[in-house]
Amino acid sequence: MLNILVIDDNPEDGNATQAMLKEGLGTQFECTQATMISDALKYVKEQTFDIILLDLMLPDSLGLDTLRQFRQTNPCAAILIVSGLQDEALAVQAVQYGAQDYLIKGQVNSHTLSRAIRYAVERHRVQEQITYQAHYDHLTGLANRGLFHERLHYALARCNRNDTAIAVLFLDLDHFKNINDTFGHEYGDSVLKTVASRLKKCIREVDTGVRMGGDEFAVLLDQVQSVEDVGNIAQRLLDLLSEPIVLENHELHITGSVGVTIYPWDCANAADLLKHSDTAMYRAKAKGGNNFQYYTAGMQTSPLDGTTIDVELRRALVKGEFLLHYQPQMDLQSRQIIGMEALIRWQHPYQGMVQPMNFIPKAEETGMIVPIGEWVLQAASLQAKKWENEGRLLAPISVNLSAQQIHQRSLPSSVQNILQATQLDPQYLQVELTESFLIHENPSTLGTLRELKAMGVKIYIDDFGVGYASLRYLKSFPLDGIKLDRSLIKDIETDVSNTAIVRAVIALANTLGLKVIAEGVETQAQADFLTNHGCDAIQGYWLTPPVPAHESSKWLQTSQLVTH
Ligand code: C2E
Ligand code: CA
Ligand code: CA
Repeated sequence: MLNILVIDDNPEDGNATQAMLKEGLGTQFECTQATMISDALKYVKEQTFDIILLDLMLPDSLGLDTLRQFRQTNPCAAILIVSGLQDEALAVQAVQYGAQDYLIKGQVNSHTLSRAIRYAVERHRVQEQITYQAHYDHLTGLANRGLFHERLHYALARCNRNDTAIAVLFLDLDHFKNINDTFGHEYGDSVLKTVASRLKKCIREVDTGVRMGGDEFAVLLDQVQSVEDVGNIAQRLLDLLSEPIVLENHELHITGSVGVTIYPWDCANAADLLKHSDTAMYRAKAKGGNNFQYYTAGMQTSPLDGTTIDVELRRALVKGEFLLHYQPQMDLQSRQIIGMEALIRWQHPYQGMVQPMNFIPKAEETGMIVPIGEWVLQAASLQAKKWENEGRLLAPISVNLSAQQIHQRSLPSSVQNILQATQLDPQYLQVELTESFLIHENPSTLGTLRELKAMGVKIYIDDFGVGYASLRYLKSFPLDGIKLDRSLIKDIETDVSNTAIVRAVIALANTLGLKVIAEGVETQAQADFLTNHGCDAIQGYWLTPPVPAHESSKWLQTSQLVTH
């Protein structure tokens, strides 16, 4: 059923057209007639037409101007010019202005007219589809980068004209790569769709939600009133984002980092607007993610602004700017040190000591984590050997491995090489993997872990108890133990649900023969609680924060905890 609008200044011509339509299309159409453009524009606002048959010569509008007025108000109908003028040049121009075809009165019959209508409607539909595909992201339905730039261009012009402000929020998901790596791309796509629909909920009709590519999104906020308003929207976005996502029986916790720049307050042009938002976003990442940062002048000069981090990390590796601090793990029964966790630091030439949260996520994104991780393995093994040579080493050194390192098929052989080169006994090496590994029974990951295990390397699951419901996977992996996440320990005496989780996990680990190390233990009360509930070992500020190798060696010397 086609809804057709016939516009002709001569009602007799209009009726004749309608009669032809009836002959050609039978009952397959509905028709509205108008003799003036003002009436026609009114109808177009009230209902949607599939096609408009338009005479260019109207009492209140002439020639291509008529066409232009329609294009401006109703871009969703096909337009067919039906003109008394046999003017080839005008016909070409009309098509250039967006008409589907140009027919000449008196040269059409019911058959050719209905055919032209059908083709025009079809052609128009395809064109709309192509335009849509060119402007919108096919996965999420958000505007794409191209449309974003187009809208930004107009928004900036409006700002300059009206003395108003706009804001750009740049959103990058935290650790999204892990999700793709762990669950696969299809799953990752579903997560991105969920993120997009949450993003749409935070913005108004006049704003534009954008997928810039990958796990990068942006929001163009029009008519900004105050910095606080923008901050509120950014916070709302983060809050909505961090609500659990349940997909295929997995409950997932996603967070994002948002950078905010406001024009004209923070920058002078479109290019800076984008660059600054990106810079601010990396700052949010450097703060550990799940937060937003306004752009402030001065961020630009920071070597951590993300634009050069890849180069910086490479240089740091070559120049030996990384170092390891160590934090002891103490058995609660024997009070002996049963492990030393190696934690990376970056001694930056201008920034001073940079903490891992400020560069590990970036290293993971850029793939630099693989060579950096290899350096950590090597440096930790060397240190362990040194302690062994000094007669101090009683316990393994524990090294954090990123998802990407585990996915390298060459990991076991590179561990083997390092052990050989440093002559360290494999029983003195332990690795910590984040919990997200467990959920995906990837045969190759499993193979890698089994190879490590077969060498004699111990395997722990890190940050256990947050985000992933992975208890049932514990059995299928060759593990030695788990590390209870800091967040569970924090309120362990007061938060009943955390208490229950900790109890359950310890009980389960005991049945599976896994050791449990609690991390982030800061008080005597927490240590007592954990002792009473059968936790094997603890690590945390209560004993000591991570310290340089020479300071931590005293923990190895004194295998007994003397005072506290
Ligand atoms: P993680 O593996 O969970 O490491 C424990 C973190 O908790 C360390 O932070 C440590 O300083 C901190 N911590 C220890 N005791 C306490 C405590 O009592 N209270 C509190 N609030 N915090 C405590 P750090 O050194 O900043 O490391 C942060 C994260 O960076 C690590 O978390 C780990 O995920 C990552 N990381 C560190 N070194 C490496 C590395 O060599 N390779 C990889 N891939 N990641 C690393
Ligand atoms: Ca760890
Ligand atoms: Ca941890």
